[in-house]
Amino acid sequence: MNNQIIEKLKELQEIDLKINRLNKVCIEKSASIDKKREEIRTLQQIINGKKDKAKQLKIEIDTKDLDLKANEEKANKLTVQLNTVRTNKEYSIIINEIKAVKADNDVIEDVLLNFFNQNDIMQKEMKDLEAKIKEKNDEINSLAAVINDEISQIKKEIDNNCQIRTKNAEEIDSEALNKYEKIMNSKPDLTALAKVVDFTCGSCYMDVPRQQVNEILRGKQMVCCKSCSRILYLDLTNGLQENND
Ligand SMILES: [Zn+2]
Repeated sequence: MNNQIIEKLKELQEIDLKINRLNKVCIEKSASIDKKREEIRTLQQIINGKKDKAKQLKIEIDTKDLDLKANEEKANKLTVQLNTVRTNKEYSIIINEIKAVKADNDVIEDVLLNFFNQNDIMQKEMKDLEAKIKEKNDEINSLAAVINDEISQIKKEIDNNCQIRTKNAEEIDSEALNKYEKIMNSKPDLTALAKVVDFTCGSCYMDVPRQQVNEILRGKQMVCCKSCSRILYLDLTNGLQENND
């Protein structure tokens, strides 16, 4: 593994890391819009819940309204009946019935008033939420325009770097390249190379034996870390010092 290949692999790693970084930025940027859209969906769900409640309330209002009207009718009929009664007893029975019906209606009217208040509050809340959604939508639309522009700029940059990568990769011995890519794809941080510093792997911080450092210096073969399997290299100025230790 001569130093030239190592230098080319180091360049390749820089480009790969850059491409990876840029891809991440793109994902984060579109995720930030998705998150805001999700906020709108949540608000919409709250509105839908309130709409269902308002529908339910409307049904209850209509039912109570029918009860109210039925009672009014009943009271009217009883009032008419009053004209035909013959005894005081009958008279007072009907008067009591009328009183009971009216008392019943008083209760219904209270309930209805309460329902109407609830409905007013709900309608206002829904209106406020609709306004909030509209505001957020406008905000997202202008933000999305900016972010999509940024994303397409970054994608161009990614394309450029991919082209450079392809060109650079062509200049590297295929066996070394395969090994590099295999290691890179197995690592969460996508690094396949590790610098040896003071007989320690710069990635996993495990010891690198003097014999391996000497092998790297001889530059005849690829030397990999025994712990993390990354391709080891020496910073040439430091590397020579390490060897002289
Ligand atoms: Zn290592």
